[in-house]
Amino acid sequence: MDYNAFLIKYAEIGLKGKNRYRFEDALVRQIKFAVKRVGDFKISKEQGRILVEAKDEYDYEETIGALKTVFGISAICPVVIDDNSEFEHLAELVCAYVDKAYPDKNFSFKVVTKRADKKYPMNSMELAANLGEQLLNHFPEMKVDVHNPDVLVHCELRTNVYVYSVEIPGPGGMPVGTNGKAELLLSGGIDSPVAGYMISKRGVYIDAVYFHAPPYTSERAKEKVVDLAKKISVYTGPINLHVVNFTDIQLAIYEKCPHDELTIIMRRYMMRIAEHFANEDGAQALVTGESIGQVASQTMYSLVATNEVCTKPVFRPLIGFDKQEIIDISEKIDTYETSILPYEDCCTIFVAKHPVTKPNVNVIKCSERKLDDVIDDLMKTAIETTETIHVS
Ligand code: ATP
Ligand code: MG
Repeated sequence: MDYNAFLIKYAEIGLKGKNRYRFEDALVRQIKFAVKRVGDFKISKEQGRILVEAKDEYDYEETIGALKTVFGISAICPVVIDDNSEFEHLAELVCAYVDKAYPDKNFSFKVVTKRADKKYPMNSMELAANLGEQLLNHFPEMKVDVHNPDVLVHCELRTNVYVYSVEIPGPGGMPVGTNGKAELLLSGGIDSPVAGYMISKRGVYIDAVYFHAPPYTSERAKEKVVDLAKKISVYTGPINLHVVNFTDIQLAIYEKCPHDELTIIMRRYMMRIAEHFANEDGAQALVTGESIGQVASQTMYSLVATNEVCTKPVFRPLIGFDKQEIIDISEKIDTYETSILPYEDCCTIFVAKHPVTKPNVNVIKCSERKLDDVIDDLMKTAIETTETIHVS
């Protein structure tokens, strides 16, 4: 069956009262952005739905793939459109649709109708019953099952008439751009790209910061992070990725601070620098891929010690996730294979054999004082020499 339009259903944004148009406009914008890659489409609002119409030839699978990257979409329905809502015509339309879409008629069905136009001479129940009767007349092999049908045949009367029976799940969430911006600490691991995806799913724009430590970390390790940013940008939209040279700060920490506190102190400086870029990018919060207890630097005590340097809120969308749950999402969003490429990370290079798991903030602050004479200059240089890569 060939379709040249898709009816898009959205869930939560339908609940936004007077702000609803803002969410709808953002969804239209994000859909335009996503389908631009795959063809020429007309996108319009249609009374509680969005309509995506192909203006030209297009690839069905690619288009569905593109729509599945748009947060805010709950379902994608390949649809047949008509402008005549007269009952005899509707009945013909629905029968022709079913005939084409289901060559084998051996299935149970139920007709579901919606009328935006309440003046239509039949109510929704009558319309559904009458269309069901017409289908049974035409195709006696079909059976009605109102409780557990194989196929739901939808007929919606809006500005036009829409007939569909396939609902492909979208990613859910809210359109990107409706909930501010966050600065993601993006490493080359499995977790932080997933954290970026998760926060973006709630409508948040992201920019990102990556800390590398050349020559201890390679150019390939950096390319891997750029690739991960590219992969999530399919969902999040364009990302400014700040690549911070962290080597001198790490060496200073290594030289002057107790080794069991290295990771915590290093992470505190990462947060401070990330917050600087959050301010520059107009981001309201920081985001990390941390999950309680995953490693020594993510115990409750360690998270508290890391958090203590930030004035902006730090969101950790994976906080309650098990590793396998995070891996499942990374596979779904296609970052897993890139994340497991075996390039070194700056965190793993200067790592202590026995890191503290219950750091005391006062003790950590005391250790950090040993950096007093160098750290301001090192931070300044790290920020000034940062390379920003526009990823889309
Ligand atoms: P990931 O899989 O995301 O690398 P992880 O399990 O390796 O996470 P850590 O290395 O402790 O965990 O890092 C915790 C979080 O700190 C990461 O999810 C990320 O948000 C941030 N982070 C760690 N290293 C870096 C880095 N080199 N650049 C930017 N952010 C980092
Ligand atoms: Mg990591």
